[in-house]
Amino acid sequence: MKVLVVEDNPGIIEVVSLCFQLRWSGTTVISAATGRKGIELVETESPDVIILDIGLPDIDGYQVLKEIRRFSEVPVIMLTVRGEDTDVAKGLELGADDYITKPFSHIELIARVQAVLRRSQGLSVTDDEKPFTSSKLSVDFARNEVTINGQSTKLTSTERKLLYHLIRNEGRILSHESLLSKVWGDTYVDARDLLRVHIQHLRQKLGDNTEVPSIITTEHGIGYKFVRPTG
Ligand code: CA
Repeated sequence: MKVLVVEDNPGIIEVVSLCFQLRWSGTTVISAATGRKGIELVETESPDVIILDIGLPDIDGYQVLKEIRRFSEVPVIMLTVRGEDTDVAKGLELGADDYITKPFSHIELIARVQAVLRRSQGLSVTDDEKPFTSSKLSVDFARNEVTINGQSTKLTSTERKLLYHLIRNEGRILSHESLLSKVWGDTYVDARDLLRVHIQHLRQKLGDNTEVPSIITTEHGIGYKFVRPTG
């Protein structure tokens, strides 16, 4: 397993390296102190997971994330500062898979990394992952190919998993708790904001109306429902 840490604070890099050394043997931790170097290492080193700080000396973490998402779906965990909720929302909107707040414990860091890796690898190819097709939308889960009105788009691993559960339960309401535990794991059942941000992102990618959604509908106080797009 290879972890890339993009962070200009050597202290944090040291903490992360030590954490993996102690708790996850066989892991290689590589690091970049600038955003540009980070993007370069994603291309040349193909890490399995990225831990990305927002405050960097050249370009900020959001810009780094945006550029990484142009060519890679690698899981990204944003490092945020306590109390900065807007940072979290913005990072998730740009395609981060999760976030961790500084200062963090070893246990927390390992748990977050395990969770994003499980999600990105959790969608194995089986027979019941048949592509979904309607006149407007087609989704090939195994190939991660989504076509909406003839235009193709790419989903992050989290979005793909979320859409998978919604589509497999077409026309049925899935509760917040059920979606959170299926996609993120049991420890996330109360993380409704996390779910809401990913649902919004998914709607945008599917060309759904984010104000009055018709493909992924909001069932107030209960959850969400996938409705087959027609016309
Ligand atoms: Ca920093």
